[in-house]
Amino acid sequence: MANHSEQLRHLPQVSRVLSLSTLSAARERYPAEAITEAVRGELDALRQQILQGKAPETLPEPEQIAEAALVKLARDAVPRIRSVINATGVVLHTNLGRSPLAESAAQAAYEAARGYLNLELDLTTGKRSSRQLNVRAGLCQLTGAESATVVNNCAAATVIVLRTLAAGKEVIVSRGQLIEIGGSFRIPDILTVSGATLREVGTTNMTRLSDYEAAIGPNTGLLMKIHTSNYRVRGFTKAVEIGELVALGRKHGLPVIDDAGSGAALDLGRYGLPGEPRVTDGIAAGADLVLFSGDKLLGGPQAGIIAGRQDLIQRIERDPLMRAFRLDKMTLAALEATLQLYRDPERVTRELPTLRMLTMPLAELRQRSEAFAKRLRALPGGQQVEILDDVAYVGGGSLPDQTLPTVVIALTPPISEETLAARLRAGTPAVMGRVQDGRVLLDLRTVLEHQEEALFTALAAALAPSVP
Ligand SMILES: *Cc1c(COP(=O)(O)O)cnc(C)c1O
Repeated sequence: MANHSEQLRHLPQVSRVLSLSTLSAARERYPAEAITEAVRGELDALRQQILQGKAPETLPEPEQIAEAALVKLARDAVPRIRSVINATGVVLHTNLGRSPLAESAAQAAYEAARGYLNLELDLTTGKRSSRQLNVRAGLCQLTGAESATVVNNCAAATVIVLRTLAAGKEVIVSRGQLIEIGGSFRIPDILTVSGATLREVGTTNMTRLSDYEAAIGPNTGLLMKIHTSNYRVRGFTKAVEIGELVALGRKHGLPVIDDAGSGAALDLGRYGLPGEPRVTDGIAAGADLVLFSGDKLLGGPQAGIIAGRQDLIQRIERDPLMRAFRLDKMTLAALEATLQLYRDPERVTRELPTLRMLTMPLAELRQRSEAFAKRLRALPGGQQVEILDDVAYVGGGSLPDQTLPTVVIALTPPISEETLAARLRAGTPAVMGRVQDGRVLLDLRTVLEHQEEALFTALAAALAPSVP
């Protein structure tokens, strides 16, 4: 104990540390309060260590305390949200923000962010209008629906649709479609928060139209089909097609909702990605509403699109939750620009990063990877660089089984692969690859062409032998 109070007495005063010349340059960059706060933080931490008997024998000098405060100030000044080069080969990487926007969409969001705009104003009449009008026509054209509206994401779309059309009523869903997507999006829970009651029919692998029909009663609100995008039941299975469900709904006067989830607007089948329903399919089959995400296969900003019957869309837009779920100006601008790209099918595969990555021919990717590997081999550091055949993933809760043939650059570093991966994550920009069998794998399929130089610089820095 005596030792503790002795040590405490030796701790310098805050003002003593603040008076050191070490901190003079920092005064130009940081507010005085922040510097005082940082120094006080360092001293408090030392005091705690002393009281817990965890302080070193010799306490740091005031100089070192000032240095530590400087490190903390510099660290706090770095934004927590940083750019990451995605070399994982997972195209819709939810942890990395799913779809990167097209240049035109990013530009639209930027312009919307930095000024005023006609978000809810008709510039012809000077009167108030609806923000949904900015994207309604584009969404109708994309889906073939008579009307459409948009909310923050597909989860919100599901909640507001179920609430408006089925609160206090039963929603009939196949047991095989009661999915969980990501952490906390579970269809049964979503139904509960919407005020609807789940009526499960069929079994995990088998649901027939007769199962739906037998469950219909006076309290049925709607029939719902959910695209099981993140898992697949194989073998002895049966699911009811949306068209059959629509016919049943019509017979009983019940709306049929198609939660399509990943929202493919183009036929990705011709690029080796078969089996994903298109957003036009549900509407063409007669579904009353189709729901899908804006930032999965559509390749736009985070949004939940609801397309279908005009009378239902109007009811949804009158729900008070619409206010809580509505899109902000930047997202709306980015969505409008993304929809604009879809008017030209050639342009959209070229300019929309998500589609460009998914449809990039293997030969082109191999060429890019080989040129890049050659440059990496020329770097000092003794790393081994190979090109390997591998698979890329669509990701984002979409097409789980769907892998795309790809090539990766496999780096065997002289340091441990985990150390290299950690250095790459800590760099600016950060780089995410895949660590596997003693190697770091880099898939250029998910690296935008304009990021290749930055990726090379980041790799050169991380591989440099001088890095401690
Ligand atoms: C991804 C997905 C959702 C959730 O969409 P978010 O836009 O992430 O909220 C809902 N339903 C299905 C079928 C999905 O695939």
